Amino acid sequence: MAAIHTLGELRQSGRHSRPVKQEIRDNLVRKLQAGEPLFPGIIGYDETVIPQLVNAILSRHNFILLGLRGQAKSRILRGLVDLLDAQIPVVPGCEIHDDPLAPLCASCRTRVATEGDEMPIAWLPREARFVEKLATPDVTIADMVGDIDPIKAAQAGLNLADELTMHYGLLPRANRGIFAVNELPDLAGKIQVGLFNILQEGDVQIKGYPIRLKLDVMLVFTANPEDYTARGKIITPLKDRIGSEIRTHYPATRGNAMAITKQEAWTDRSGALPVDVPEYVREVVEEVAFQARADRKIDKRSGVSQRLPITTLELVVSNAERRALANKESVVVPRVTDVYAALPSITGKFELEYEGELRGAEQVARDLIRSAVGNVFSGMFDGVDTRTVVEWFDLGGSLPLSDTTPASAVVTETRNVQGLRDLADQAGLAKGASAPLVAAAIDFVLEGLTAQKKISRSDERGYAAAEAAPRRQPRRDEPMIDEEIRIPGSKKKYYN
Ligand SMILES: [Zn+2]
Repeated sequence: MAAIHTLGELRQSGRHSRPVKQEIRDNLVRKLQAGEPLFPGIIGYDETVIPQLVNAILSRHNFILLGLRGQAKSRILRGLVDLLDAQIPVVPGCEIHDDPLAPLCASCRTRVATEGDEMPIAWLPREARFVEKLATPDVTIADMVGDIDPIKAAQAGLNLADELTMHYGLLPRANRGIFAVNELPDLAGKIQVGLFNILQEGDVQIKGYPIRLKLDVMLVFTANPEDYTARGKIITPLKDRIGSEIRTHYPATRGNAMAITKQEAWTDRSGALPVDVPEYVREVVEEVAFQARADRKIDKRSGVSQRLPITTLELVVSNAERRALANKESVVVPRVTDVYAALPSITGKFELEYEGELRGAEQVARDLIRSAVGNVFSGMFDGVDTRTVVEWFDLGGSLPLSDTTPASAVVTETRNVQGLRDLADQAGLAKGASAPLVAAAIDFVLEGLTAQKKISRSDERGYAAAEAAPRRQPRRDEPMIDEEIRIPGSKKKYYN
């Protein structure tokens, strides 16, 4: 293809352009026949989203991905670029990437007529054929479709076929490519009508002037499912033109979720100290997101993005890196307690329900981490006898450890706690594991027992015996009534 430089050569080559949806379909068919991987980097969708996506593309549909935030919707749309031809011939300089063999705009048609076979052609790479727009209520027809200068238009006495005075918007610039609109319901109704007209009729009115634009675009969208189905958010004729609605979802298993986070999180800090993240730390980080998605204090409608565990793991590694650098350790091994240092990456990633707001984002996040630790620990230490260790604390022992304690100190200071090292070994320690790895395993056991409320942890004393179950004696100045005030007929235990 690179050998073709003029319109004449292009004509002789016998190559002709296909509509973009046909081109994408053809390339998908070829990939399927060759058994090539589709949408590399998209994990956990092999049996759900990908087959529906393939069907939509085979059907040459415009489609919409419906899902909550952080479900790889934008990533899938960007992945469509791989299904375009590596490059296509265009009229050089044309803003709407006109096909030299069938130009739309007046100036290209004039060029073809006057220059003929001598007209040079350019090759447009596939990456330049993907246009993306985040819909917001203030997006205008001028942004989307384009604008004209009405005075110029009036002076020139323009008719339908004339677009010489037009300033093109995003959609025409996506001609012969893919146009992705994220969060479609946020687009004003008027703009949706404009999109629909272009799709359906190939023309649109701008400032009262009819403009003809027979564009060739694959339209793809994303939306939050509730916004999309809400009555009146999407104009019916546009909805009608969207061939497929495909639902995305959060990872179904912790394993899938860990694989995504492993792929996306920046944990290999090349050039600095080597990083070794224990598997149980990865599990806890992931479990925080699973807990958050199921927590009634957190708004289900907006969801909890996969970016929560990704950024959390990055901060967890950074906290461990900071400790390793301060203590001159040679390897960075994150601990479960480092997850608490990752609160800044957690609190902003969810919207709270009223009940959550009462508790506060930070406390909600701490609760999530604690139950995540408890869950992972219970899974790994199911049926394991932890009594010896718990007794050591019940007999008055305490361990003043924190997330800044050097690994060697964690190991020496816990040496006298009978049975603790044995438990730590069960967290998957290899024989002769380095001090930072041993310290992390010990930390995991202590945090696990804390989450199970068998021992306690406070800033002042570190780890200590569990606080005795509160058998609270009412103080004299306090009325002797139930702590919780029950409101008749209401399940809620608070006033609102
Ligand atoms: Zn043109």
